[in-house]
Amino acid sequence: MDPYQTLEQLRQLLESKQISAEELCRYFLDRIAQFDQQTNCFVSVEPEQVLAEARGADKTRDQGINGQLSGIPVAHKDNFCVRGQRTSCCSNLLRTFISPYDATIVKNISKEGGIYFGKTNMDEFAMGTSNQTSTWGPVRNPWDLSRVPGGSSGGSAAAVAAGFVPVATGSDTGGSIRQPASFCGVTGFKPTYGRLSRYGMIAFASSLDQAGTLTRTAQDAATMFRIMQGHDPRDATSEASWSDDKRVSVKHPLTIGYAASLLNDLDSEIVARIEGSRETLERLGNKFKDVEVFDQDLALSSYYIISCAEASSNLARFDGIRYGTRTKSASSIQELYENTRSQGFGDEVKRRLLAGTYFLSTNSPENYVQKAQKLRRMVYALYQELFQKVDVVLAPSAPSTAFRLDEQLDSTDMYRQDRFTVPVNLCGLPAVSIPCGLVNGLPIGVQLIGPQYGDELILDVAYRFQSETSWHLHRPKL
Ligand code: GLN
Repeated sequence: MDPYQTLEQLRQLLESKQISAEELCRYFLDRIAQFDQQTNCFVSVEPEQVLAEARGADKTRDQGINGQLSGIPVAHKDNFCVRGQRTSCCSNLLRTFISPYDATIVKNISKEGGIYFGKTNMDEFAMGTSNQTSTWGPVRNPWDLSRVPGGSSGGSAAAVAAGFVPVATGSDTGGSIRQPASFCGVTGFKPTYGRLSRYGMIAFASSLDQAGTLTRTAQDAATMFRIMQGHDPRDATSEASWSDDKRVSVKHPLTIGYAASLLNDLDSEIVARIEGSRETLERLGNKFKDVEVFDQDLALSSYYIISCAEASSNLARFDGIRYGTRTKSASSIQELYENTRSQGFGDEVKRRLLAGTYFLSTNSPENYVQKAQKLRRMVYALYQELFQKVDVVLAPSAPSTAFRLDEQLDSTDMYRQDRFTVPVNLCGLPAVSIPCGLVNGLPIGVQLIGPQYGDELILDVAYRFQSETSWHLHRPKL
């Protein structure tokens, strides 16, 4: 059996009964048991439960009842609540938290017969770009174990890249699906804000957070998207009045925007891979138009101010009273809050909560948050204007290939890793990162950014790209 098969291929194997769900799941469980000590993608897997679910899927198939994902292994990033399972956000503070309910997305996937395969490792509370801040230890990139998988959905991206599961969920607040997808050579899809429910996805920065997927192909991302989407009355920002005519229609060929200025300070090998993708898309009949995009560093400042401010408010609930771990040493309620949070949160989370609280508490009318919101509006306006002229935008996903675990980037360098991805979140746009080449044996991805509700459109372009190229078929030697 080939562990690198797509969701579609595995579905066919199951449907034609060439393999049972139990055999398939056992195969992937064995693979995880054999190799995940090296990569540390999973923070929990319960083989007995997986096999019981798989036997259930086989039984319903025999009765002729088939969910669209019946028997397919799906892993969830550890910030998605799964009923009865530990949901730690890879934080010391939530090490003991067992979720009493399912996130809507988790529910939608299991309704279609997807087998819950376990929780994947991530940066603590999804704050990060390297997957080095997890309380369960760092994830290693299956392409090169001395390198990071990217973050914060690094466990999910690495699990798909390593052939542990065909699909994993992720969350993308500022690039956390697309950047690890680029580092691990998989397809990372972040839909339009509001098209997938955030209910049960532990909040980092609510106006930016978006669930999505890591898969092998754009076709698999589209399948998952159809299953996961839908209005959720439990999420006030979930698209309430969604109707199919809001969808940007899929057409072909397209006018694609290309911001050459983004490539200025990139390594020439990476530039060559991105230009190669442009040529592929041209060969497919699309036209390119040079465009200017918003200053990436300004967008980055806006993102870090808004996301830290929202995090400082969202994470205030972790006080030792209601969730997770409570300090053992406190002689007053104030001390209990302080000690729980001091002992529970790691350094990166503390840094952001301190910064966010500061941004929110300065009195001057021209304070940080207002300025950041103004910048956010400007980025939004620029993209609105851009999408009057072009159908989609092609941009790098990340400025480098996976860096080494021991490279120790400082915070600012780490934050600058996100400069190509955060503008998309500031505007709530859909974007997908697809593999576009290898540089010194390491994968690199390119991003297709769409207008609001252009989810199907960018997935269609990505699908055509993958029909023409084989970068997504390369696999690490694990
Ligand atoms: N790397 C970004 C950050 O650290 C994005 C995180 C995310 O998308 N969850 O904030």
